[in-house]
Amino acid sequence: MDIHLYNTATRSKELFAPLDPENVRMYVCGPTVYDRAHLGNARPVLVFDILYRLLKTQYPHVTYVRNFTDVDDKINARAAESGRSIGEITAETSQWFLDDMGAIGALEPDHMPRATAYIAEMVEMIEGLIDGGFAYAKEGHALFRVREYARYGKLSGRSVDDMIAGARVEVAPYKEDPMDFVLWKPSDAQTPGWDSPWGRGRPGWHIECSAMAKALLGPQFDIHGGGNDLMFPHHENEIAQSCCANGTDRMANVWMHNEMLQVEGKKMSKSLGNFFTVRDLLEQGVPGEVIRFVMLSTHYRKPMDWTEKKREEAEATLRKWYAQVEGANEGKVTEAVTTALADDLNTPQAIVELHQLSQKGDGSALWAAMRLLGVMGDAVPGWAAVSDADLSAYEAAFSSVRADAMQTKDFSKLDAMKQMLIAAGVEVKMRKDGVDLVAGPSFDPVKLESMP
Ligand SMILES: [Zn+2]
Repeated sequence: MDIHLYNTATRSKELFAPLDPENVRMYVCGPTVYDRAHLGNARPVLVFDILYRLLKTQYPHVTYVRNFTDVDDKINARAAESGRSIGEITAETSQWFLDDMGAIGALEPDHMPRATAYIAEMVEMIEGLIDGGFAYAKEGHALFRVREYARYGKLSGRSVDDMIAGARVEVAPYKEDPMDFVLWKPSDAQTPGWDSPWGRGRPGWHIECSAMAKALLGPQFDIHGGGNDLMFPHHENEIAQSCCANGTDRMANVWMHNEMLQVEGKKMSKSLGNFFTVRDLLEQGVPGEVIRFVMLSTHYRKPMDWTEKKREEAEATLRKWYAQVEGANEGKVTEAVTTALADDLNTPQAIVELHQLSQKGDGSALWAAMRLLGVMGDAVPGWAAVSDADLSAYEAAFSSVRADAMQTKDFSKLDAMKQMLIAAGVEVKMRKDGVDLVAGPSFDPVKLESMP
């Protein structure tokens, strides 16, 4: 089957043709590990997880690399303010990231290099850039000479002069040109540092990805991915470094960028009070499959809006589908589903196809398609397990207490009853003219015995 992917570098949807069909190679920029992943961080993880799953259905081997940036000034600041060691913070945060992404069904990449394990490769690459005249050393720094690379800005479609006008480029005495960016910078005694030809110091962020991608995927590979907030300057800088150091005309054949995430129509930010992490949602009882399903319901090149309504709808849809696949045998993924994904990862169209399988009552094909999308494991997840507990007597009692409360405007008894039901693992769904009680996976009938 042909796979078409939108390539940022050419601004067009192209037929995907791997350099080596025996080994498709993909690099995705990973997290800087100093805190829990917020919901926006999960989007590229899920987008490239879908691509990874799709590629694995079509090629014998896929090598997927996603790094951990474990040397960064944000990490140093977190260590200083918390009094904890950098190693402790990065190890803990890396594991949090893997746990949280695992909970939303993301497969682990084949390689997850930590930047600090590739310092020698970074130093070697910087030395090569300096030897080639693409970089220079000054005052303990090594800097890339942006004007030496004629194709700089091609990925994001900007000219160097536009970028100077628009970007907050830092003017510094050790820079020949304000656009030049840091490859290496000096560390003081309190800051992590490694010996180098330019003194004790640490790498800039951009060189990390160039060095790790080269070490694990070679000087040129198939796909490079990340959020579109990384396009400039990070990806422009990666391309400039890699192409100049490796003597290649491109770093990756296909550049893919996902759009950003919003919450209820607004940019997620701490100041707006709508900032939350993947772990926050999981702890509120939102199943990982639901988070994943909501994310996949929007195409990756469109802004994704996380809303409470979508969360509820996703949960209802998945419960319905899980009920349909129970008792079925896992069948084959239908061509319509794969075709949708092969069309530049059109996950919303794939979901439309799943709805159609559900309507047809084809539990076997539905199961296979849900597995390909990563919302179905080997069995129906506990949260969605169908319970046949008969709660109709409680529904009737609840409805009559509710009717009384509407009359008297005293809701205390109704509230107490509701709390007791929830504590017993019952989901309480209000309808206009009554209530639906659904026993959840943690349903404990003993806890209902004391109910009036
Ligand atoms: Zn990167």
